[in-house]
Amino acid sequence: MIIVIKPEASKGAVQGFTALLEKQGVKVHLSEGASQVVLGLVGDTSRIQEKSLLAHHLVEKVIRVQEPYKRVNRLFHPDDTRIAIDGLDGKTRHIGAGYVGIIAGPCSVETREQIISVAQSVKQAGAGFLRGGVFKPRTSPYSFQGLGCEGLELLIEAKKATGLPIVTELMAIHQLEIFDTVDIIQVGARNMQNFTLLKELGGCRKPILLKRGYAATITELLMAAEYIMAGGNDRIILCERGIRTFESTTRNTLDLSAIPILKKQSHLPVFVDPSHATGLSWMVPAMAKAAIAAGADGLLLEVHPNPEEALCDGEQSITPARFAELMNVLRRYAAVEGRIWDEEDEGNNETP
Ligand code: PEP
Ligand code: MN
Repeated sequence: MIIVIKPEASKGAVQGFTALLEKQGVKVHLSEGASQVVLGLVGDTSRIQEKSLLAHHLVEKVIRVQEPYKRVNRLFHPDDTRIAIDGLDGKTRHIGAGYVGIIAGPCSVETREQIISVAQSVKQAGAGFLRGGVFKPRTSPYSFQGLGCEGLELLIEAKKATGLPIVTELMAIHQLEIFDTVDIIQVGARNMQNFTLLKELGGCRKPILLKRGYAATITELLMAAEYIMAGGNDRIILCERGIRTFESTTRNTLDLSAIPILKKQSHLPVFVDPSHATGLSWMVPAMAKAAIAAGADGLLLEVHPNPEEALCDGEQSITPARFAELMNVLRRYAAVEGRIWDEEDEGNNETP
């Protein structure tokens, strides 16, 4: 249940009202928007009467939420969530609320030369964030598993060399100890419903890039995000990365319709990963453009200096040159859609 409070209500009055509600056995989650305060009631609301709530002088509107998710629900938080992330280059990047963010880099960190050179190229082409897997969720135990801690050190070197905030996947809770310098923690498709991990990330202060499981419904993705938000971490980026269907031409099937649905249902930013969705590098630019046109808040793109020799996902990785070309096109797409391209905002960190 969601209660919209009248704009003129004082803070103290809202606090008193919240205490009254909590006496009825529910938890009240307060969200302060630009112009209005919204209360989300979590727990058993069956005994709370809408009519009696409406009779209260502070209440403007009462909405019974049908969906099982509350904190991630747009009803509860009508404004888009915007996440600000500082780079070592002194620039603040924004994700969500009209901004287009680009995360680019190799599937896996392989060598110092590889990660530093990709980091420099994607930065030069305008990417806002550097990705690179160090703990890799591979289908076969005999495939390259990532460089682990050593890879993380190299990724941090690339962060220092370029100033780009870094994004990497967390596979197990104990790895959190060494993720201090990671700017965005990625939860991979295979871990989307690892509820123990999600709960732990709820208590962490870092933004989470939550990838949709390849057999997960939209509601299941939002419920996974709800786990993180229920723990107190509201800096979540949802990521559509393709789902498994009967189609075998592409690695997965990119569910573009997930973008408008997620944006309608939730206030959280929505990214798209056309690399894992298609598994084919030549298809990545077309799907990247389609995602921005459909309203995605950003993209996750695999870029490798030499895809043919990549230790992981080379077939879906684009070269730095192709990435730079694509970025020029995407800038124009973003402008047509009236979106804020991160670079335009350089030196100006005010709310759009
Ligand atoms: C990745 O981003 O490298 C990755 C493994 O993605 P996913 O979890 O979507 O398969
Ligand atoms: Mn990959």
